[in-house]
Amino acid sequence: MSADDSSIFITDTMNSVLNDKQITFEDAERLLSTNDIITLSRCANNITRTFNGNAVDVETLINAKSGTCPEDCYFCAQSSFYNTGIKKYPLLPKDVIVEQALKAKEGGSTSFCLVCAYRSPPEKDFEQICETIEEIKKNVMIEVNVSLGFMTHDKVRRLKSLGVKRYNHNLEASESYFSQICKTHDFEDRVNTARIVKEEGLELCCGGIIGMGESPKQRLELAFSIKSLEPDEVPVNILISRKGTPLNSLAPLDPLDAIKTIAVWRFIMPKTILKIAGGREVHLKEKERIALKAGANGLITGGYLTTGGNNANEDITMIREIGLQPH
Ligand code: SF4
Repeated sequence: MSADDSSIFITDTMNSVLNDKQITFEDAERLLSTNDIITLSRCANNITRTFNGNAVDVETLINAKSGTCPEDCYFCAQSSFYNTGIKKYPLLPKDVIVEQALKAKEGGSTSFCLVCAYRSPPEKDFEQICETIEEIKKNVMIEVNVSLGFMTHDKVRRLKSLGVKRYNHNLEASESYFSQICKTHDFEDRVNTARIVKEEGLELCCGGIIGMGESPKQRLELAFSIKSLEPDEVPVNILISRKGTPLNSLAPLDPLDAIKTIAVWRFIMPKTILKIAGGREVHLKEKERIALKAGANGLITGGYLTTGGNNANEDITMIREIGLQPH
């Protein structure tokens, strides 16, 4: 495809998305294969601004229970299968989590996501988490989201009754690549929890990780699987390969490939919150500004589960500098 043809195709596809048409897998492959990253970014940005305005969703995470997870996800520093040197601790006390929620609110975050490394939460921990959520809802005016591993209908119903807004459960990798990054559960297990969340009426946050050795086509497969679950928010993580994990020796993803992937995911999911999550400071560096003008409209601030990140003030300043509004 010549440069002119490519630019025309990208612009035509954008117009079609703006007219509420869905793109096909073949369209997405064609978009991803372009070298015209400027047109691709500009069109992804047009789609984002048309459907989502100028707001950028800013979220803070807390790792409320770290490490010793019985699953073997190859990318994860919290798996008990690997010796990664992270700080491990049981579920944090209620007051510590409530204080972190307050700090997140004061730092400018609009949502606070309580994340725990479980396959699924033991009953005792689940009760304590529910009490903690009640305290946050009583004392801090911030949206509460949670990520606690595999869920049952009863547990999701309980979370909903406490006022939790959104449940995070990522698919992580495409179905065709999943067995290369995890052996202790399968792709369908992840899809199942995502479906339960939707069926019980909680908002769904469901994304994945790119740069785990998958092919560009598998990145698109992942996006189409996520889209089929109709998530409200989609975090895109870029692998930070952690010492001690099986993916430790992988070469990092080219930042331009990451930006192109985010842009094409925007064409695939025009109206969702598309959040750049783990790995953005490491891999994108100053290009994270480009990503927010090329399809993304959200970010995680203040660090991730086992790695540090920008602080909220830096991120909020950056968002304003590029003419967008933290939300
Ligand atoms: S990704 Fe989640 S399920 Fe997998 S090892 Fe890490 S904490 Fe456990």
